Amino acid sequence: MALLTFKKGVHPHDHKELSKESPIQRFPAPKTVYIPVCQHLGSPSQPVVAKGDRVKKGTLIAKVTGFVSANVHSSVSGTVKDIVDIPTVFGNRAPAVVIENDGLDEKDYLSPLNSEDRAVLIERIKECGLVGMGGATFPTQVKLSPPPDKKIDILIINGAECEPYLTSDYRLMLESPESVIEGARIFLKILGAQKGYIGIEANKQDVYEKMDAILKDNSVLKAVLLKTKYPQGAEKQLIYAVTKRKVPAGGLPMDVGVVVQNSATAVAAYEAVKAGKPLFERIVTVSGSGINKPANLLVSTGTLVKDVIEHCGGLTEEAAKVILGGPMMGISVAELDIPVTKGTSGIVVLTDKEVQKEEYEACIRCGKCVDACPMNLSPFHYIALGEVKQYIECEKWRVMDCMECGSCAYVCPAKRPIVQFVKIAKQKVLAEIRRRGAK
Ligand code: SF4
Ligand code: SF4
Repeated sequence: MALLTFKKGVHPHDHKELSKESPIQRFPAPKTVYIPVCQHLGSPSQPVVAKGDRVKKGTLIAKVTGFVSANVHSSVSGTVKDIVDIPTVFGNRAPAVVIENDGLDEKDYLSPLNSEDRAVLIERIKECGLVGMGGATFPTQVKLSPPPDKKIDILIINGAECEPYLTSDYRLMLESPESVIEGARIFLKILGAQKGYIGIEANKQDVYEKMDAILKDNSVLKAVLLKTKYPQGAEKQLIYAVTKRKVPAGGLPMDVGVVVQNSATAVAAYEAVKAGKPLFERIVTVSGSGINKPANLLVSTGTLVKDVIEHCGGLTEEAAKVILGGPMMGISVAELDIPVTKGTSGIVVLTDKEVQKEEYEACIRCGKCVDACPMNLSPFHYIALGEVKQYIECEKWRVMDCMECGSCAYVCPAKRPIVQFVKIAKQKVLAEIRRRGAK
């Protein structure tokens, strides 16, 4: 069978063997959880509980504040102790609701929903605080509400999980394929799309076979096999691989009639509709040579990363770098007193040998970064211009189209940290665009 794919990209070792055989296990909810009121892209939610309030698993603790925002719910039953600023994955501090777990495990779910009405289904997804669980954390109800002039005919469930080490989506799709499919049916209903595809990388052949067998008589939804290549799960690349449609520069998937949702988000949608369950826990892959016992754990949001690591036998002596997410696009964290959130797909610990050193060399003009870039950019310019503080010039070289996938840096023989310079360049270019707009 021909494998679907996109142009360019890279082939990093996937290291999935470390955790792929580990079935999902529930991580016991800790005595205290620290639940950030903003776990999504968009405006922070507003706390609706106060010190001393009693909550249950699923109780709303912070409410949406704008169009692009998401509700936040308690992941334990217990008592609100405080609302304090805690460290976040981004290195700053932000408000979190601190809840002492009473161990009673009482639930506060919504009623199961038995409706096919699009508006009712979207409202349920909003109420339950769903966000993109592949790491992007964009509020799901917004993605499911394209403007009327954007007709969606294709839904793609992203089961690529192309980041090395991560196997949380793999285990979820393998252990609960029906839930992924039911979630996809809900999205199809909401979008009014005629076709749905579940895109699965070829390194998850067993998942593909399972999905394919379940869907063999389904004329709307189909499992498709993708080439194992990075970044196969990036939205624009996935859309091209499955439909051969090209999202225009600066455009969105809806511009080509497509909506992409992660497989874990599909399961969350199914649980929100079928069981009235808000999103307050997620599967996290804990892996890497720097961790003693790699695992796939169902973790309550607000659980501290250090407790999850300890549960997995702690760090090895060689552990050097902890990354939340995968090694290509994840964020390296300096402290472990930060909580697992809706977007924490993995905790990956690399050893000294695997970590790239600070020093890098001059560009040798080999062009490998250009050959690897799936967005057809010229990545070497961004770092060359950044080194001489000419960040604004990067706009001409389409830096805003860069999705920070890291493919260019991965292949660079001079180990040039291109993405670090891209991040700075984007901030400077955005500021410049705003300045021009204000004139
Ligand atoms: S320039 Fe951006 S999009 Fe292109 S490979 Fe590098 S990080 Fe990825
Ligand atoms: S891969 Fe590295 S060394 Fe080669 S052209 Fe790109 S930035 Fe320069």
